[in-house]
Amino acid sequence: MENTFDAVIIGAGACGLMCAVQAGYLGKKILILEKNEKIGAKILISGGGRCNYTNLYSEESNFISENPHFCKSAFSQYSVDDTISFFKTYGINGQEKTLGQLFPSTNNAKDIVRVFESLCTDFGHKILTNSEVKELVKLDSGMFKITFAFANKLKDVTVSSVVIASGGLPIPKMGATDFGLKVAKQFGLKITETAPALVPLTITGKDAEWYAKLSGNSIFCRVSNDKISFEENILFTHWGLSGPAILQISSYWKPGEQIRIDLLPNDNIIEIIQSQKMINGRKTLLGLLSDIFTRKFAEALDKYLPVEKNLASLNKEDFLLIDQLIHKFDVKPAGDKGYDKAEVMRGGVATDELSSKTLESKKVPGLYFGGECVDVTGWLGGYNFQWAWSSGFVIAQNI
Ligand SMILES: Cc1cc2nc3c(=O)[nH]c(=O)nc-3n(C[C@H](O)[C@H](O)[C@H](O)COP(=O)(O)OP(=O)(O)OC[C@H]3O[C@@H](n4cnc5c(N)ncnc54)[C@H](O)[C@@H]3O)c2cc1C
Repeated sequence: MENTFDAVIIGAGACGLMCAVQAGYLGKKILILEKNEKIGAKILISGGGRCNYTNLYSEESNFISENPHFCKSAFSQYSVDDTISFFKTYGINGQEKTLGQLFPSTNNAKDIVRVFESLCTDFGHKILTNSEVKELVKLDSGMFKITFAFANKLKDVTVSSVVIASGGLPIPKMGATDFGLKVAKQFGLKITETAPALVPLTITGKDAEWYAKLSGNSIFCRVSNDKISFEENILFTHWGLSGPAILQISSYWKPGEQIRIDLLPNDNIIEIIQSQKMINGRKTLLGLLSDIFTRKFAEALDKYLPVEKNLASLNKEDFLLIDQLIHKFDVKPAGDKGYDKAEVMRGGVATDELSSKTLESKKVPGLYFGGECVDVTGWLGGYNFQWAWSSGFVIAQNI
């Protein structure tokens, strides 16, 4: 393939597309190679098809990385405000849903992908879909030879700058590959241990049936471990626990560890019982718990609490038990639902291998890594796209 490109971007996801567009503003010509039939597959399914494309309160503490300061430079070069005004320029106004999460007011992720599609056309970039990159070799000349499969044939392109924007391991059936990690290893770059993140947690053994029976029940909780805590809903499922608070803590959880759930984070259950007891001591604990939680959940608590007792007859031991269960419900998940259900990958190309200012490999000039394949993992709520946009922007300035 004749080389008329300033850079080749591998992966037409959030990072690759933003990188191509930003390079276009600077007059650079780009070839994007994408394994899938269509571009922006994950953007299209994100946020339930609505795409939570950034978060108004995004700051570095919302990102997990071996070097928590690494993402600072990218965010200072391309901020949440830059993201908002970029999309606004092309007719997408943001609508905040909850906790700073911004969605297109049309509620349609397709609008986001359309912006990139039309800008790439305007800039004259070439996007080859159904093109899986198989190999990347650095030639003695300092150029890179990229070999990709297209229409059952292997093709080559030679270029001076390569952007690895091939994403992480979640959802292999949507095109996810370990290409970024493989390239990093091939060039001798360190990888920070990877794991599914923003992922539901499983419960097995004697408690599994109890969780399964509660499937569909959602409760506002504080979920915590020794590193962090989140106040959002948890959702009981047939296999264990999901919901935003669980997805968030999963990024800070490792197999074998316990999480603590406060089922009533903004109240004190003992104080509630004491005050209710004054009004109606004959009320059962079940009745009171049903006022606070769903009836089904309150009934299920009979596995742990004397729910049939009336409030006046609860003794000191009962109070201790109730306080422990409602405010310190400890759970030891068996595992997680893996990359099929994870929203992101934790870990990735180690940040100390890359310049935080340019995202170029320190060891391999001309090789750039951005988006999810880098060891920068955002919370749930639009943070991961913000990293993808910011890292794509930064790379575009330097290729
Ligand atoms: C169900 C779901 C919902 C999500 N919702 C949100 C949300 O609302 N907000 C948010 O901030 N984040 C969300 N995320 C996370 C977000 O989608 C990712 O963090 C983001 O897409 C990462 O962007 P990326 O460009 O690095 O990778 P990707 O978007 O994954 O793009 C990588 C691209 O590279 C291609 N590719 C891989 N290997 C090769 C190869 N060898 N050759 C050619 N092409 C290759 C892939 O096909 C893919 O198109 C969600 C994730 C999932 C799974």
